[in-house]
Amino acid sequence: MTETLHIVGGGMAGSEAAWQAARLGIPVVIHEMRPRVGTFAHRTGNLAEMVCSNSFRSDDDEQNAVGLLHWEMRAAGGLIMETADCHRLPAGGALAVDRDPFSEAVTARLRDHPLISVTDEEVTELPSSGHWIVATGPLTSSALGAAIAAETGAEALAFFDAIAPIVHAETIDMSVAWRQSRYDKGETEEERTAYINCPMTKADYEAFIDALLAADKTEFREGETAGYFDGCLPIEVMAERGRETLRHGPMKPIGLTNVHRPEEKAYAVVQLRRDNALGSLYNIVGFQTKMKYGAQAQVFRMIPGLKDAAFARLGGIHRNTFLNSPTLLDGQLRLRSRPNVRFAGQITGVEGYVESAASGLLAGRLAAFEILGRALSAPPPTTATGALVTHVTGGAEAKTFQPMNVNFGLFPPLEDARGGRRGRRERYKGYTDRAKEDWQGWLTAQDAPALV
Ligand SMILES: Cc1cc2nc3c(=O)[nH]c(=O)nc-3n(C[C@H](O)[C@H](O)[C@H](O)COP(=O)(O)OP(=O)(O)OC[C@H]3O[C@@H](n4cnc5c(N)ncnc54)[C@H](O)[C@@H]3O)c2cc1C
Repeated sequence: MTETLHIVGGGMAGSEAAWQAARLGIPVVIHEMRPRVGTFAHRTGNLAEMVCSNSFRSDDDEQNAVGLLHWEMRAAGGLIMETADCHRLPAGGALAVDRDPFSEAVTARLRDHPLISVTDEEVTELPSSGHWIVATGPLTSSALGAAIAAETGAEALAFFDAIAPIVHAETIDMSVAWRQSRYDKGETEEERTAYINCPMTKADYEAFIDALLAADKTEFREGETAGYFDGCLPIEVMAERGRETLRHGPMKPIGLTNVHRPEEKAYAVVQLRRDNALGSLYNIVGFQTKMKYGAQAQVFRMIPGLKDAAFARLGGIHRNTFLNSPTLLDGQLRLRSRPNVRFAGQITGVEGYVESAASGLLAGRLAAFEILGRALSAPPPTTATGALVTHVTGGAEAKTFQPMNVNFGLFPPLEDARGGRRGRRERYKGYTDRAKEDWQGWLTAQDAPALV
Protein backbone atom coordinates (compact mmCIF):
# COMPACT_ATOMS: atom_id res chain seq x y z
CA MET A 1 0.00 0.00 0.00
CA THR A 2 1.21 3.51 -0.79
CA GLU A 3 2.31 5.43 2.28
CA THR A 4 0.22 8.38 3.45
CA LEU A 5 1.29 11.99 3.24
CA HIS A 6 0.24 14.10 6.25
CA ILE A 7 -0.19 17.82 5.73
CA VAL A 8 -0.47 20.17 8.68
CA GLY A 9 -2.47 23.28 7.77
CA GLY A 10 -5.06 23.51 5.02
CA GLY A 11 -4.34 27.06 3.86
CA MET A 12 -3.10 28.12 0.43
CA ALA A 13 0.00 25.93 0.59
CA GLY A 14 -1.45 22.89 2.35
CA SER A 15 -4.49 22.74 0.07
CA GLU A 16 -2.40 22.88 -3.11
CA ALA A 17 0.13 20.36 -1.74
CA ALA A 18 -2.68 17.92 -0.93
CA TRP A 19 -4.19 18.27 -4.40
CA GLN A 20 -0.88 17.70 -6.19
CA ALA A 21 0.03 14.65 -4.12
CA ALA A 22 -3.43 13.08 -4.44
CA ARG A 23 -3.35 13.55 -8.22
CA LEU A 24 -0.17 11.50 -8.20
CA GLY A 25 -2.00 8.71 -6.39
CA ILE A 26 -0.82 9.40 -2.84
CA PRO A 27 -3.30 9.12 0.08
CA VAL A 28 -3.34 12.41 1.99
CA VAL A 29 -4.55 13.48 5.42
CA ILE A 30 -4.94 17.23 5.98
CA HIS A 31 -4.72 18.21 9.65
CA GLU A 32 -6.41 21.61 9.85
CA MET A 33 -7.09 23.02 13.32
CA ARG A 34 -9.90 25.35 12.26
CA PRO A 35 -12.75 25.67 13.11
CA ARG A 36 -11.91 23.94 16.41
CA VAL A 37 -8.97 26.30 17.07
CA GLY A 38 -9.13 29.73 15.44
CA THR A 39 -6.62 32.48 14.57
CA PHE A 40 -7.09 36.24 14.89
CA ALA A 41 -7.35 36.62 11.10
CA HIS A 42 -9.35 33.63 9.81
CA ARG A 43 -13.17 33.86 9.95
CA THR A 44 -14.34 30.44 8.74
CA GLY A 45 -13.50 26.76 8.91
CA ASN A 46 -12.88 26.64 5.14
CA LEU A 47 -9.66 25.46 3.61
CA ALA A 48 -7.68 28.06 1.59
CA GLU A 49 -9.33 31.00 3.29
CA MET A 50 -8.10 34.40 2.08
CA VAL A 51 -7.44 36.24 5.32
CA CYS A 52 -7.26 39.78 3.99
CA SER A 53 -7.38 41.09 0.42
CA ASN A 54 -9.26 39.06 -2.21
CA SER A 55 -6.58 39.52 -4.86
CA PHE A 56 -4.06 37.16 -6.38
CA ARG A 57 -2.40 40.29 -7.82
CA SER A 58 -1.32 40.69 -11.46
CA ASP A 59 -2.41 38.06 -13.96
CA ASP A 60 0.04 39.28 -16.60
CA ASP A 61 2.26 36.29 -17.39
CA GLU A 62 4.53 38.20 -19.80
CA GLN A 63 5.51 41.25 -17.76
CA ASN A 64 4.93 40.31 -14.15
CA ALA A 65 6.55 37.66 -11.96
CA VAL A 66 3.33 36.96 -9.99
CA GLY A 67 1.41 36.52 -13.26
CA LEU A 68 4.13 34.09 -14.30
CA LEU A 69 3.57 32.08 -11.09
CA HIS A 70 -0.14 31.92 -12.03
CA TRP A 71 0.87 30.56 -15.43
CA GLU A 72 3.18 27.94 -13.95
CA MET A 73 0.54 26.74 -11.48
CA ARG A 74 -2.10 26.54 -14.21
CA ALA A 75 0.29 24.51 -16.37
CA ALA A 76 0.81 22.13 -13.44
CA GLY A 77 -2.94 21.59 -12.90
CA GLY A 78 -3.04 23.68 -9.72
CA LEU A 79 -6.29 23.60 -7.76
CA ILE A 80 -5.90 27.10 -6.31
CA MET A 81 -5.57 28.68 -9.76
CA GLU A 82 -8.32 26.60 -11.35
CA THR A 83 -10.71 27.56 -8.55
CA ALA A 84 -9.63 31.21 -8.62
CA ASP A 85 -10.33 31.31 -12.35
CA CYS A 86 -13.84 29.92 -11.73
CA HIS A 87 -14.61 32.64 -9.15
CA ARG A 88 -12.90 35.55 -10.84
CA LEU A 89 -14.21 39.09 -10.30
CA PRO A 90 -13.60 42.01 -12.66
CA ALA A 91 -10.37 43.73 -11.54
CA GLY A 92 -8.52 45.04 -14.59
CA GLY A 93 -5.26 43.16 -15.02
CA ALA A 94 -5.43 41.63 -11.55
CA LEU A 95 -6.90 38.29 -10.57
CA ALA A 96 -9.43 39.10 -7.87
CA VAL A 97 -11.76 36.39 -6.61
CA ASP A 98 -15.06 36.07 -4.79
CA ARG A 99 -13.45 34.89 -1.56
CA ASP A 100 -16.13 32.76 0.14
CA PRO A 101 -17.28 30.78 -2.92
CA PHE A 102 -13.58 30.34 -3.74
CA SER A 103 -12.60 28.78 -0.42
CA GLU A 104 -15.84 26.78 -0.23
CA ALA A 105 -15.08 25.31 -3.66
CA VAL A 106 -11.46 24.43 -2.72
CA THR A 107 -12.77 22.77 0.45
CA ALA A 108 -15.39 20.77 -1.47
CA ARG A 109 -12.91 19.60 -4.13
CA LEU A 110 -10.46 18.41 -1.49
CA ARG A 111 -13.07 16.77 0.76
CA ASP A 112 -14.64 15.03 -2.26
CA HIS A 113 -11.34 13.58 -3.48
CA PRO A 114 -11.27 9.83 -2.75
CA LEU A 115 -7.64 9.92 -1.59
CA ILE A 116 -7.94 12.95 0.71
CA SER A 117 -9.33 13.14 4.22
CA VAL A 118 -9.47 16.18 6.49
CA THR A 119 -9.26 16.13 10.31
CA ASP A 120 -9.87 19.20 12.47
CA GLU A 121 -7.04 18.65 14.91
CA GLU A 122 -4.28 20.99 16.01
CA VAL A 123 -0.88 19.34 15.59
CA THR A 124 1.37 20.35 18.48
CA GLU A 125 4.54 18.31 17.88
CA LEU A 126 6.97 17.81 15.02
CA PRO A 127 6.48 14.15 14.00
CA SER A 128 9.52 11.91 14.01
CA SER A 129 8.32 9.38 11.43
CA GLY A 130 6.12 9.26 8.35
CA HIS A 131 5.92 11.78 5.51
CA TRP A 132 4.83 15.24 6.59
CA ILE A 133 4.45 18.72 5.17
CA VAL A 134 4.06 21.54 7.68
CA ALA A 135 2.16 24.41 6.02
CA THR A 136 0.79 26.21 9.05
CA GLY A 137 1.41 29.69 7.73
CA PRO A 138 2.08 33.05 9.34
CA LEU A 139 -0.30 32.30 12.22
CA THR A 140 1.07 28.88 13.19
CA SER A 141 -0.47 27.89 16.53
CA SER A 142 1.70 28.67 19.52
CA ALA A 143 2.10 25.04 20.65
CA LEU A 144 3.44 23.97 17.26
CA GLY A 145 5.54 27.16 17.07
CA ALA A 146 7.16 26.20 20.36
CA ALA A 147 7.84 22.66 19.11
CA ILE A 148 9.45 24.01 15.93
CA ALA A 149 11.56 26.48 17.92
CA ALA A 150 12.72 23.63 20.18
CA GLU A 151 13.93 21.78 17.06
CA THR A 152 15.47 24.69 15.15
CA GLY A 153 16.67 26.89 18.01
CA ALA A 154 14.62 29.95 18.96
CA GLU A 155 16.78 32.34 16.92
CA ALA A 156 15.98 30.45 13.69
CA LEU A 157 12.21 30.94 14.01
CA ALA A 158 10.72 34.43 13.86
CA PHE A 159 7.25 35.35 15.08
CA PHE A 160 7.14 38.80 13.47
CA ASP A 161 8.57 40.14 10.29
CA ALA A 162 10.02 43.61 10.27
CA ILE A 163 10.54 44.10 6.60
CA ALA A 164 12.65 46.89 5.23
CA PRO A 165 11.85 47.87 1.63
CA ILE A 166 13.85 46.09 -1.06
CA VAL A 167 15.05 47.95 -4.15
CA HIS A 168 16.13 46.64 -7.55
CA ALA A 169 19.85 47.50 -7.64
CA GLU A 170 19.76 48.64 -11.27
CA THR A 171 17.34 51.45 -10.36
CA ILE A 172 19.67 53.09 -7.82
CA ASP A 173 21.35 56.20 -9.23
CA MET A 174 25.04 55.48 -8.70
CA SER A 175 26.01 58.98 -9.86
CA VAL A 176 24.56 60.07 -6.50
CA ALA A 177 25.09 56.98 -4.32
CA TRP A 178 28.36 55.14 -3.71
CA ARG A 179 29.56 51.78 -2.40
CA GLN A 180 31.34 51.70 0.95
CA SER A 181 31.07 49.90 4.29
CA ARG A 182 31.19 52.11 7.37
CA TYR A 183 34.85 52.83 8.27
CA ASP A 184 35.81 50.70 5.24
CA LYS A 185 35.47 47.65 7.46
CA GLY A 186 36.10 44.22 5.96
CA GLU A 187 38.88 41.87 4.91
CA THR A 188 38.12 41.88 1.19
CA GLU A 189 37.25 44.61 -1.32
CA GLU A 190 33.79 43.05 -1.60
CA GLU A 191 33.22 43.48 2.15
CA ARG A 192 34.67 47.00 2.19
CA THR A 193 32.15 48.00 -0.49
CA ALA A 194 29.22 45.93 0.73
CA TYR A 195 26.80 48.84 1.24
CA ILE A 196 25.30 51.40 -1.11
CA ASN A 197 25.11 54.83 0.53
CA CYS A 198 22.69 57.64 -0.28
CA PRO A 199 23.76 61.03 1.14
CA MET A 200 21.38 63.69 2.51
CA THR A 201 21.90 67.39 3.11
CA LYS A 202 20.23 69.02 6.12
CA ALA A 203 17.41 70.25 3.87
CA ASP A 204 16.92 66.73 2.39
CA TYR A 205 16.80 65.25 5.89
CA GLU A 206 14.30 67.77 7.27
CA ALA A 207 11.99 67.31 4.28
CA PHE A 208 12.27 63.53 4.63
CA ILE A 209 11.36 63.61 8.35
CA ASP A 210 8.37 65.90 7.63
CA ALA A 211 7.11 63.50 4.94
CA LEU A 212 7.65 60.49 7.18
CA LEU A 213 5.67 62.02 10.04
CA ALA A 214 2.83 63.10 7.74
CA ALA A 215 2.56 59.80 5.80
CA ASP A 216 -0.46 57.49 6.09
CA LYS A 217 0.23 54.54 8.38
CA THR A 218 -1.42 51.14 8.80
CA GLU A 219 -2.89 50.43 12.21
CA PHE A 220 -1.98 47.29 14.08
CA ARG A 221 -4.75 44.70 14.20
CA GLU A 222 -6.10 43.40 17.44
CA GLY A 223 -4.06 40.45 18.71
CA GLU A 224 -1.18 41.36 16.40
CA THR A 225 1.04 43.56 18.48
CA ALA A 226 2.52 41.54 21.34
CA GLY A 227 6.29 41.71 21.35
CA TYR A 228 6.42 43.72 18.13
CA PHE A 229 8.74 46.45 19.07
CA ASP A 230 11.69 44.60 20.51
CA GLY A 231 14.60 45.74 18.39
CA CYS A 232 12.55 46.55 15.30
CA LEU A 233 11.02 49.98 15.77
CA PRO A 234 9.36 51.34 12.65
CA ILE A 235 11.28 54.35 11.31
CA GLU A 236 8.26 56.64 11.72
CA VAL A 237 8.08 55.71 15.41
CA MET A 238 11.78 56.58 15.75
CA ALA A 239 11.11 59.91 14.03
CA GLU A 240 8.19 60.59 16.39
CA ARG A 241 10.55 60.18 19.33
CA GLY A 242 12.66 63.08 18.08
CA ARG A 243 13.64 64.56 14.72
CA GLU A 244 17.29 63.68 15.31
CA THR A 245 16.72 60.05 16.35
CA LEU A 246 17.17 58.58 12.87
CA ARG A 247 20.32 60.63 12.29
CA HIS A 248 21.80 58.92 15.35
CA GLY A 249 20.36 55.52 14.37
CA PRO A 250 20.04 53.88 10.94
CA MET A 251 20.77 57.16 9.09
CA LYS A 252 23.97 58.12 10.89
CA PRO A 253 26.55 59.58 8.50
CA ILE A 254 29.73 58.65 10.38
CA GLY A 255 32.54 56.58 8.88
CA LEU A 256 31.45 57.29 5.30
CA THR A 257 32.93 59.51 2.60
CA ASN A 258 30.95 60.47 -0.47
CA VAL A 259 33.19 59.54 -3.41
CA HIS A 260 31.37 62.02 -5.66
CA ARG A 261 31.91 64.94 -3.23
CA PRO A 262 34.66 63.93 -0.79
CA GLU A 263 34.93 67.46 0.62
CA GLU A 264 31.25 67.52 1.70
CA LYS A 265 30.14 65.79 4.90
CA ALA A 266 26.67 64.30 4.50
CA TYR A 267 24.15 65.36 7.17
CA ALA A 268 22.59 61.88 7.12
CA VAL A 269 23.15 58.73 5.06
CA VAL A 270 20.67 56.03 4.08
CA GLN A 271 22.40 52.69 3.62
CA LEU A 272 21.31 49.76 1.47
CA ARG A 273 22.63 46.25 1.96
CA ARG A 274 22.80 43.40 -0.52
CA ASP A 275 19.79 41.11 -0.15
CA ASN A 276 20.54 38.17 -2.45
CA ALA A 277 23.51 36.25 -3.79
CA LEU A 278 22.88 37.60 -7.31
CA GLY A 279 23.41 41.18 -6.04
CA SER A 280 20.31 42.33 -7.89
CA LEU A 281 18.34 43.34 -4.75
CA TYR A 282 19.25 45.70 -1.90
CA ASN A 283 17.31 46.36 1.31
CA ILE A 284 17.21 49.77 2.99
CA VAL A 285 18.93 49.11 6.29
CA GLY A 286 16.76 49.57 9.40
CA PHE A 287 13.81 50.97 7.45
CA GLN A 288 11.01 48.68 8.67
CA THR A 289 7.81 50.67 8.61
CA LYS A 290 4.02 50.64 9.01
CA MET A 291 3.55 53.33 6.35
CA LYS A 292 0.96 52.45 3.71
CA TYR A 293 2.47 51.21 0.44
CA GLY A 294 1.63 54.30 -1.64
CA ALA A 295 3.14 56.56 1.00
CA GLN A 296 6.28 54.43 1.26
CA ALA A 297 7.06 54.69 -2.43
CA GLN A 298 6.63 58.48 -2.31
CA VAL A 299 8.66 59.00 0.85
CA PHE A 300 11.51 56.64 -0.09
CA ARG A 301 11.87 58.17 -3.55
CA MET A 302 12.76 61.44 -1.76
CA ILE A 303 16.06 59.81 -0.78
CA PRO A 304 18.84 61.08 -3.07
CA GLY A 305 19.82 58.24 -5.41
CA LEU A 306 16.41 56.56 -5.09
CA LYS A 307 14.38 59.03 -7.14
CA ASP A 308 13.65 56.36 -9.76
CA ALA A 309 13.82 53.36 -7.44
CA ALA A 310 11.74 50.32 -8.33
CA PHE A 311 10.79 48.34 -5.25
CA ALA A 312 10.90 44.55 -5.29
CA ARG A 313 8.86 44.77 -2.11
CA LEU A 314 7.81 47.47 0.29
CA GLY A 315 8.33 47.44 4.04
CA GLY A 316 6.02 46.17 6.74
CA ILE A 317 5.71 44.76 10.22
CA HIS A 318 3.34 41.85 10.72
CA ARG A 319 2.64 38.90 12.90
CA ASN A 320 4.39 36.20 10.92
CA THR A 321 5.90 32.89 11.94
CA PHE A 322 8.69 31.92 9.58
CA LEU A 323 11.82 29.83 9.54
CA ASN A 324 15.33 30.90 8.73
CA SER A 325 14.92 28.64 5.71
CA PRO A 326 18.32 29.32 4.08
CA THR A 327 19.97 27.59 7.04
CA LEU A 328 17.26 25.07 7.98
CA LEU A 329 15.80 23.66 4.75
CA ASP A 330 17.42 21.74 1.92
CA GLY A 331 16.59 22.31 -1.76
CA GLN A 332 13.75 19.77 -1.43
CA LEU A 333 12.12 21.91 1.30
CA ARG A 334 13.01 19.26 3.93
CA LEU A 335 14.10 20.17 7.42
CA ARG A 336 17.78 19.25 7.41
CA SER A 337 17.61 17.98 11.00
CA ARG A 338 14.42 15.95 10.40
CA PRO A 339 14.13 15.10 6.70
CA ASN A 340 10.77 13.34 7.07
CA VAL A 341 9.28 16.83 7.56
CA ARG A 342 8.96 19.29 4.72
CA PHE A 343 7.81 22.88 5.09
CA ALA A 344 5.70 24.82 2.61
CA GLY A 345 3.99 28.18 2.28
CA GLN A 346 4.51 31.36 4.18
CA ILE A 347 6.29 29.61 7.07
CA THR A 348 9.24 29.01 4.69
CA GLY A 349 9.62 32.76 4.13
CA VAL A 350 7.70 33.20 0.91
CA GLU A 351 5.13 35.95 1.16
CA GLY A 352 1.61 36.11 -0.23
CA TYR A 353 -1.25 33.85 -1.26
CA VAL A 354 0.19 33.08 -4.69
CA GLU A 355 3.73 32.40 -3.52
CA SER A 356 2.40 30.19 -0.72
CA ALA A 357 0.24 28.17 -3.11
CA ALA A 358 3.21 27.75 -5.49
CA SER A 359 5.41 26.58 -2.66
CA GLY A 360 2.70 24.09 -1.67
CA LEU A 361 2.45 22.86 -5.24
CA LEU A 362 6.15 22.12 -5.27
CA ALA A 363 6.22 20.53 -1.79
CA GLY A 364 3.26 18.29 -2.68
CA ARG A 365 4.96 17.04 -5.82
CA LEU A 366 8.35 16.56 -4.13
CA ALA A 367 6.76 14.59 -1.27
CA ALA A 368 4.68 12.48 -3.65
CA PHE A 369 7.69 11.56 -5.75
CA GLU A 370 9.65 10.67 -2.64
CA ILE A 371 6.85 8.34 -1.49
CA LEU A 372 6.75 6.79 -4.97
CA GLY A 373 10.50 6.18 -4.68
CA ARG A 374 11.28 8.40 -7.65
CA ALA A 375 13.72 11.29 -7.85
CA LEU A 376 12.43 14.76 -8.56
CA SER A 377 14.60 17.83 -8.37
CA ALA A 378 13.24 21.30 -7.70
CA PRO A 379 12.50 23.36 -10.82
CA PRO A 380 15.37 25.48 -12.19
CA PRO A 381 15.83 29.03 -10.80
CA THR A 382 14.93 30.41 -14.24
CA THR A 383 11.28 29.57 -13.47
CA ALA A 384 9.23 31.69 -11.05
CA THR A 385 8.65 28.80 -8.64
CA GLY A 386 12.29 27.77 -8.89
CA ALA A 387 13.58 31.33 -8.37
CA LEU A 388 11.45 31.76 -5.26
CA VAL A 389 12.36 28.42 -3.70
CA THR A 390 16.05 28.81 -4.59
CA HIS A 391 15.96 32.19 -2.82
CA VAL A 392 14.42 30.92 0.41
CA THR A 393 16.47 27.74 0.58
CA GLY A 394 19.86 29.32 -0.03
CA GLY A 395 20.01 32.34 -2.35
CA ALA A 396 18.95 34.81 0.34
CA GLU A 397 21.30 36.23 2.95
CA ALA A 398 20.59 34.05 6.01
CA LYS A 399 21.54 36.75 8.53
CA THR A 400 18.98 39.26 7.30
CA PHE A 401 16.42 36.78 5.96
CA GLN A 402 12.90 38.21 5.72
CA PRO A 403 9.85 36.96 3.79
CA MET A 404 9.93 37.56 0.05
CA ASN A 405 7.45 38.04 -2.77
CA VAL A 406 8.31 36.65 -6.19
CA ASN A 407 10.00 39.27 -8.41
CA PHE A 408 12.35 39.35 -11.39
CA GLY A 409 15.25 40.35 -9.15
CA LEU A 410 15.34 36.71 -7.99
CA PHE A 411 15.89 35.38 -11.51
CA PRO A 412 19.35 34.67 -12.94
CA PRO A 413 20.15 37.50 -15.37
CA LEU A 414 19.52 37.03 -19.07
CA GLU A 415 22.54 37.10 -21.29
CA ASP A 416 22.55 40.06 -23.71
CA ALA A 417 19.53 41.72 -22.09
CA ARG A 418 19.34 45.48 -22.29
CA GLY A 419 19.59 47.04 -18.80
CA GLY A 420 17.75 50.01 -17.29
CA ARG A 421 14.16 51.13 -17.61
CA ARG A 422 14.30 51.29 -21.41
CA GLY A 423 15.02 47.60 -21.78
CA ARG A 424 12.51 46.56 -19.17
CA ARG A 425 9.61 45.28 -21.31
CA GLU A 426 11.91 43.26 -23.50
CA ARG A 427 13.83 41.94 -20.48
CA TYR A 428 10.70 40.87 -18.60
CA LYS A 429 9.38 39.18 -21.72
CA GLY A 430 12.75 37.39 -21.95
CA TYR A 431 12.45 36.21 -18.34
CA THR A 432 8.91 34.94 -18.79
CA ASP A 433 9.60 33.20 -22.14
CA ARG A 434 12.61 31.44 -20.66
CA ALA A 435 10.65 30.49 -17.53
CA LYS A 436 7.74 29.01 -19.48
CA GLU A 437 10.02 26.85 -21.58
CA ASP A 438 11.98 25.64 -18.54
CA TRP A 439 8.82 25.03 -16.47
CA GLN A 440 7.29 23.00 -19.26
CA GLY A 441 10.55 21.05 -19.51
CA TRP A 442 10.50 20.40 -15.76
CA LEU A 443 6.91 19.14 -15.92
CA THR A 444 7.49 16.96 -18.96
CA ALA A 445 10.63 15.39 -17.49
CA GLN A 446 8.60 14.15 -14.56
CA ASP A 447 6.89 11.70 -16.87
CA ALA A 448 4.27 11.48 -14.16
CA PRO A 449 2.46 8.25 -13.35
CA ALA A 450 -1.22 8.19 -14.32
CA LEU A 451 -3.09 11.07 -12.71
CA VAL A 452 -6.08 10.06 -10.59
C1 LIG B 1 -3.38 39.36 8.89
C2 LIG B 1 -2.80 38.87 7.60
C3 LIG B 1 -3.17 39.48 6.40
C4 LIG B 1 -2.65 39.03 5.19
N1 LIG B 1 -3.03 39.62 4.02
C5 LIG B 1 -2.60 39.12 2.83
C6 LIG B 1 -3.06 39.67 1.60
O1 LIG B 1 -3.87 40.57 1.58
N2 LIG B 1 -2.58 39.15 0.43
C7 LIG B 1 -1.68 38.12 0.41
O2 LIG B 1 -1.29 37.68 -0.68
N3 LIG B 1 -1.23 37.59 1.57
C8 LIG B 1 -1.66 38.05 2.78
N4 LIG B 1 -1.23 37.53 3.96
C9 LIG B 1 -0.29 36.50 3.93
C10 LIG B 1 -1.13 35.22 3.81
O3 LIG B 1 -1.56 34.70 5.02
C11 LIG B 1 -0.37 34.19 3.27
O4 LIG B 1 0.22 34.68 2.17
C12 LIG B 1 -1.10 32.92 2.89
O5 LIG B 1 -2.40 32.74 3.38
C13 LIG B 1 -0.20 31.92 3.46
O6 LIG B 1 -0.56 30.68 3.03
P1 LIG B 1 -0.16 29.46 3.95
O7 LIG B 1 -0.80 28.28 3.35
O8 LIG B 1 1.29 29.43 4.16
O9 LIG B 1 -0.83 29.82 5.36
P2 LIG B 1 -2.40 29.96 5.70
O10 LIG B 1 -3.18 30.24 4.48
O11 LIG B 1 -2.50 30.87 6.85
O12 LIG B 1 -2.77 28.48 6.16
C14 LIG B 1 -2.21 27.89 7.31
C15 LIG B 1 -3.25 27.00 7.93
O13 LIG B 1 -2.65 26.27 8.99
C16 LIG B 1 -3.57 26.18 10.06
N5 LIG B 1 -2.80 25.89 11.27
C17 LIG B 1 -1.96 26.71 11.95
N6 LIG B 1 -1.38 26.04 12.98
C18 LIG B 1 -1.85 24.77 12.95
C19 LIG B 1 -1.61 23.61 13.74
N7 LIG B 1 -0.74 23.62 14.75
N8 LIG B 1 -2.27 22.47 13.44
C20 LIG B 1 -3.16 22.43 12.40
N9 LIG B 1 -3.44 23.51 11.62
C21 LIG B 1 -2.76 24.67 11.88
C22 LIG B 1 -4.30 27.51 10.03
O14 LIG B 1 -5.57 27.42 10.64
C23 LIG B 1 -4.40 27.78 8.54
O15 LIG B 1 -5.58 27.31 7.98
C24 LIG B 1 -1.73 37.96 5.19
C25 LIG B 1 -1.35 37.35 6.39
C26 LIG B 1 -1.89 37.80 7.58
C27 LIG B 1 -1.48 37.12 8.86
